[in-house]
Amino acid sequence: MWSELDEVLKGELERLKESRLFRFLRRIDSPQAPEVVLDGKKVILMCSNNYLGLANHPEVVNAAVESMKRYGYGAVASRLVSGNMKIHEEFEEHIAAFKGAEAALLFNCGYMANIGVLSALCDSARDLIVSDKLNHASIIDGVMLSKAKFAFFRHNDPEHLEAILNAKRAKARRVLIVVDGVFSMDGDIAPLKDIVSLAERYEAMVMVDDAHATGVIGRTGRGSVEHWELYGRIDVQMGTLGKALGGFGAFVCGSRALIDYLINRCRPFIYTTALPVPVVAAARRAVELLEAHPEMVERLRSNVNYFVSSLKDMGFNVSSSKTAIIPVIIGDEEAALKMSELLLERGVFVAAMRPPTVPRGTSRLRVTLMATHTKNHLDRALEAFRDAAKLIGII
Ligand SMILES: *Cc1c(COP(=O)(O)O)cnc(C)c1O
Repeated sequence: MWSELDEVLKGELERLKESRLFRFLRRIDSPQAPEVVLDGKKVILMCSNNYLGLANHPEVVNAAVESMKRYGYGAVASRLVSGNMKIHEEFEEHIAAFKGAEAALLFNCGYMANIGVLSALCDSARDLIVSDKLNHASIIDGVMLSKAKFAFFRHNDPEHLEAILNAKRAKARRVLIVVDGVFSMDGDIAPLKDIVSLAERYEAMVMVDDAHATGVIGRTGRGSVEHWELYGRIDVQMGTLGKALGGFGAFVCGSRALIDYLINRCRPFIYTTALPVPVVAAARRAVELLEAHPEMVERLRSNVNYFVSSLKDMGFNVSSSKTAIIPVIIGDEEAALKMSELLLERGVFVAAMRPPTVPRGTSRLRVTLMATHTKNHLDRALEAFRDAAKLIGII
């Protein structure tokens, strides 16, 4: 043992506290519903990714239970050894059809899917990954893990992307352009039509991360390809099972060749244990529910429209959102923090986002809504927003 370890770590933690970047865990002691018990108090939850309320849907829970009675709990080996079960393959076929792709592959989570796909597809210094500046941390980590060269283009700026492709395409063996379909901090949507046209012109691959898009955008909630009508024109569609689909895990969709390549070359797929049976069974039921009830997506959208327009009417700085993520810009860091504390006192749980997560001077509350929030939940939350903002003098 190293006798100084704790002293060294405490020093680091002190520095985090001084720069007010120290983080701690809050505890929920109830199912993940629109109202939860947070640190002993009942509050309206407005910072979860349970966009369609499926985390706690009785049919989803039941599917998990029934599958376990039949097939047990764990898969207890890598898919490539003895962990590949019928339920994994059946669900992959289902997900591929749902996303309008030839084939799909399950991953244990979105983080692993992103680092795995990027490092498998771009595995040489002759390759180039071009990433939106505001892409999710797991994409940034995937870029770093790959052996490829990389470049970042300004957020949602296809002209800057083109300038990079123009300067660098000829020198690269393969180029992969990667974006979040829906950006996790601002809830805005990547301009995929322009990006795909550029990719086709410059012979580059396109990968879209639909973590916040699946179950949310597109007429029936199928994500970016449906939203932009880009059927058959995106090489890699990644999505997660842990947000709108209410559970855990992720998937990648694309051509049969892409999926076979990943099975052979993607280390976070190969060197890990397959997803447990109930996780896959629950995800399958969640997808079936989404297919049968696209009105859930509609309900989410109307909740977002109502909440945004009400906040605007009150004088908040909030832009229209077509997704479940609503950034309410407060500006000052302290004010954003104070707002979230005042909201919590009034029974509304919303996360405050401060630098370095967001640019200085744009500290914000990041509200996420669910299809299962009732009008009463929304009105109570809006009342709390009005009250808190008046107290700190921002409206
Ligand atoms: C949440 C998220 C991930 C990670 O997915 P997990 O399944 O939670 O690991 C990846 N990309 C984006 C954009 C995300 O929001």
